[in-house]
Amino acid sequence: MSLETCKPGTIAAWGGEETPLAFGAAQVPIVQSAPFAYPDIDSWLDVALLRADGHIYSRNTNPTVEVFEEKIRLLELGEAATSFASGMAAISNTLFTFARPGDRIVSISDSYGGTSKLFLEFLPQMGAEVELVETGDGDALDAAIARGCKIVYLETPTNPTLKIIDLERAIVSAKRAGAISIVDNTFATPINQNPILLGADLVVHSATKFLGGHDDAMGGALVGSAELVRQVYHYREITGGNLGAFQAYLLLRGMKTLELRVARQNETALAMARFLDEHPKVEQVFYPGLESHPAHAIAARQMRGFGGVLSFSVGNDFDATKRFLNALKLAHRAASLGSVNTLAGPPCTTSHVECSAEERAQLGIPETLVRYSCGIEAFEDLRNDVAAALDRV
Ligand SMILES: *Cc1c(COP(=O)(O)O)cnc(C)c1O
Repeated sequence: MSLETCKPGTIAAWGGEETPLAFGAAQVPIVQSAPFAYPDIDSWLDVALLRADGHIYSRNTNPTVEVFEEKIRLLELGEAATSFASGMAAISNTLFTFARPGDRIVSISDSYGGTSKLFLEFLPQMGAEVELVETGDGDALDAAIARGCKIVYLETPTNPTLKIIDLERAIVSAKRAGAISIVDNTFATPINQNPILLGADLVVHSATKFLGGHDDAMGGALVGSAELVRQVYHYREITGGNLGAFQAYLLLRGMKTLELRVARQNETALAMARFLDEHPKVEQVFYPGLESHPAHAIAARQMRGFGGVLSFSVGNDFDATKRFLNALKLAHRAASLGSVNTLAGPPCTTSHVECSAEERAQLGIPETLVRYSCGIEAFEDLRNDVAAALDRV
C-alpha cells in the first residue's frame, strides 16, 4: 500500500518514516551532525557528485530534516518539498529565488505582517515592483494579474481578519498570465485545504504554527513542482536558512497529531465564533465558518474545515480590549497561533507587530481586534473563560 493513497491522519503518522532511519529505531532519530563522514574519498565523491544517495553537510541535507520534508510533501500532495529555519525564511527564500529587478509581483493587502514587509520594503529595494490588491476583491486581483506579472502570492484565510481568497479563480488568472502561483497555507493547514489540488505551483508554511502545533519549534516548508522547489532549495542551501535537525524532530513529533488537533480546533473555533456572534459585548466576529461571513460560500467550497483561528472586536477602545485580554485565564497572551494551548493577542503584538499603527489603520485592522487561536482544551472551559473575561469589558 502506498501512503499516497492514504488519508491525512495516516500520512501524518507515517509519512516519511515507513522504513526505520537507523538502528531499527521505531521513531525518527535526531541526526545532530553538521558534516557526514566517509570511509574513503571515492565514496565521498560519489555522494558529492550525486552518483549515490547520502549526505555531505547539514546546510544542504540532513536525514532528520528529510523526513520532515517528506511528511509535509505527502500532506500537501506535491512533487517535491524543502524546508527552512522559519516560515519567513521559506517565504523570503521563495520570493527572492524568483524575483528579479523589473519583475512584477501581485499579492493582497492582508498578507502576514512579515510577508507584507517583504512586499513594501525588501522586494522594492531590489528593484521588483509589487502591486497589493484589496484582499477579497476577486475582480481587482484578476485585473492586476492580467496586467502581467512573474509571481502571484496568495494567502487564505488571512491574518488577522480571516478574509478568504478564491484560490481556484486567482490561480486560473495566474496561469493565464504565465505567473508562478504561491499560496501560504499556514492558517488552513493541509488538513483543511490543499492549494495544489486547486492548481497552485507552490505552497509555503510556517511550520511553527499548526504543523508543529506545540509552540516549541520554529520552521518553514515549501511544497510543489519539482523544478521550482529545486531552484528554491539551491537558493536556500547557499544562503543558509536551513531547518535544524532537533527542530525537525520536534516538528515531526507534533505533526503526528496534526489531523486530531486540527479536527478539534476546527470544531472549537466554529462553536466559539457562534457563541461570540450572539454576545452583546462583541461588535464583530471574523470567521469563515459563519454563514454571515462574506466569503463563506468560497470557503465552504475550497476548505474541508474552517480552521482554528478567529478574531473579534471587543470594547470601544484599546483599553477595554486590554482588560478583556488580561482577564483570560486559559489563553497565553502570546504572538503565535496553532498551538495545543489557546493563544490570544491584539494585532499590534501578533500578526502585525511589524507594522506601525498608521499601517494597521490603512489595512483596516481595528485596534480593538482580538485574534484568538483555539487550542485543544475543552470548548466549554474556553467558552466560560471568554465569557468571564467579557464581563470585565
Ligand atoms: C507566522 C506566520 C508566518 C511566518 O512564520 P515564522 O515561522 O514566524 O517565520 C508566515 N505566514 C503566516 C500566515 C504566519 O502565520
